[in-house]
Amino acid sequence: MPCLLSPAGDTESLKAAVYGGADEVYFGLSEFNARKNAKNFTFEQAEEAITFCRVYGVKTNITLNTLLYSGEYNTALELVGRLEKAAAPDAYIVQDIGLAYTLSKKFPGVSLHASTQLQVHGSYGNELLKKLGFTRVVLARETAKEDIEKFVSEGMETEVFIHGAMCVCRSGGCLMSSMIGKRSGNRGECAYPCRMRYNGKYPLSLKDLCLAEKIPELIGMGVNALKIEGRMKSPEYVYGVTSVYRKLIDENRAATPDEIKRLADLFSRSGFTDGYYTNRPGKAMFGVRTDDDKERTRLSEIKITEKKIPVSLSAQAKIGEPITLSLSAEEITVTVKGLIPEKATGKGSGKEEVLKQLTKLGGTAFSAEKAEISPFVAGFYPVSELNALRRKAVSELEKEIIKRNAPVRTLYNPFEITSPQEAPKGLILRFEGDEINKDILEEAKRIEIPIWKESFWEDLLQYKDRLSLILPGFIFDSGLENIKNLIDKVKKAGITKLTLPNLTFIPLCRGFELHADYGINCISEKTASMLETLGFSTVCASPEAKAASWKNAEKLVYGRIPLMNTRNCIIKNCTFCVDGKGYALTDRTGASFPVFCGYEHSNTIYNSVPLWLLDKPCDCSPVILFTCENETKQREAVSAYKTKSAPEGGFTRGYSNI
Ligand SMILES: [Zn+2]
Repeated sequence: MPCLLSPAGDTESLKAAVYGGADEVYFGLSEFNARKNAKNFTFEQAEEAITFCRVYGVKTNITLNTLLYSGEYNTALELVGRLEKAAAPDAYIVQDIGLAYTLSKKFPGVSLHASTQLQVHGSYGNELLKKLGFTRVVLARETAKEDIEKFVSEGMETEVFIHGAMCVCRSGGCLMSSMIGKRSGNRGECAYPCRMRYNGKYPLSLKDLCLAEKIPELIGMGVNALKIEGRMKSPEYVYGVTSVYRKLIDENRAATPDEIKRLADLFSRSGFTDGYYTNRPGKAMFGVRTDDDKERTRLSEIKITEKKIPVSLSAQAKIGEPITLSLSAEEITVTVKGLIPEKATGKGSGKEEVLKQLTKLGGTAFSAEKAEISPFVAGFYPVSELNALRRKAVSELEKEIIKRNAPVRTLYNPFEITSPQEAPKGLILRFEGDEINKDILEEAKRIEIPIWKESFWEDLLQYKDRLSLILPGFIFDSGLENIKNLIDKVKKAGITKLTLPNLTFIPLCRGFELHADYGINCISEKTASMLETLGFSTVCASPEAKAASWKNAEKLVYGRIPLMNTRNCIIKNCTFCVDGKGYALTDRTGASFPVFCGYEHSNTIYNSVPLWLLDKPCDCSPVILFTCENETKQREAVSAYKTKSAPEGGFTRGYSNI
């Protein structure tokens, strides 16, 4: 049976998750966690939470699922060091591969789960993820049933989202919040620009996911963990959703219409969607939270019922001998000894009174299902002594259960980071639009073009030594053949370089010279050196990086930054997608964001204005990205780079001034 994994934004929600029947919970401390706006846990609260969960046999996964700047690794390591010493959670959910590597090196055997922010869509990257120390993968929410099935069959522990809010952008690839609101989704500060109005509508707001009708399928596939989203939600929500899914898993059945209604009452955005799972992306996946939805939630009544662990209690009391008390929960029994009862001078305590005192388990995780004292002799039993005896037994039982439920560590040998060969510096020209000014190509050390735009790169084969073809943002197992065919074609054409937006693509591209693009989210030297050890010749910094100071660094200096990469074709949802261009989303300020349709109708939404750092010093290789620019504009940008010209027209300095 898969385990049920519930969110905990604070201590109350954590208890609600446990009482609702979660097998595992996930939560974050205030730092390095993708939900910085949830209440989250202080260190002491986290320690208590882990202990609380362990008594209930519930596993704890700590979210360390943001990208880290170079200066933050030590703080993160210190935090984990303290946690390991104090309570040792069962696993850490990690996005930053530099952090994953350092953790597995410093704390051998800790379980690392690859966050959905790491953008794993297919099993082809498993070997690499294992090499990085990951023991479980939280699959990207865009993954369809057949691809989940394939992934599970490849032997990697698999976690799948089954309920809750969804990102319209592939998780981990969204820069919209940070670009337009200076709140980085990759740093846990998402401002939810996907919930805003564009073109008078809400074309980016996805309904919440609900796979309650697919539970038997997911169980049948052998998925290891089923995950509920919602660390920003109330304890009642967590309890309500967890208890519905608990029942469905235990009874291996699909939800009834009543249960779906109950889930929708708790929270929905015009109902639910399973569009990614059923491989039917499209308009029906989108919806906003209506007044009617809010009213339903207001009227829904959820009462959280505390869950107790049943124990049986047996005591023996004889005059002149220490009273003994045994508590048993499942196969664990503890026995403690207490006072020596004295013969009472007047009327002594009766059996019932003593039992009543010993079974007072309120405030603990336990409730006495059976209780007996035998033998029992009436005598003098001071209440304070009985209380102390009971407390001692409870504490011993907790200790034993905690010991039994301690995490199992599996040893792992991290690879050694090697120093990369120096790559030649020079200008990179990247063309994502439909115009290419051939006159400027001579200026480029490398020319990047999407691999699926075959007629474009076939037309430029005289530059094949400089061509590097960009892989799409999504590759599912079911789409592997198509990509492999394309890669073969590229190889046959004599092109030797590929540019990857996702590190899990590395195993698909053996034999090529590999370049990591900004989609790989490198913001630190640590991550860069890992990427280079894994096989990249160069690593382009994420637009969110503060500096690109590694050896073979590249950096975007001009172009509209891609803000989102969506599996849905937003253009098709809004109008018709014929040639996949000429569409834009306009927000309430009038800013217009171009949308391009790419590989298999996945879309890229670009910033409303280009980044302009052409006039700034750049000590690494500069990348100029062309999207909407015509040939004249392209020529002008390359000239501006050479002359270090000041910006013209609307522009952004990106994060360089933050
Ligand atoms: Zn399209």
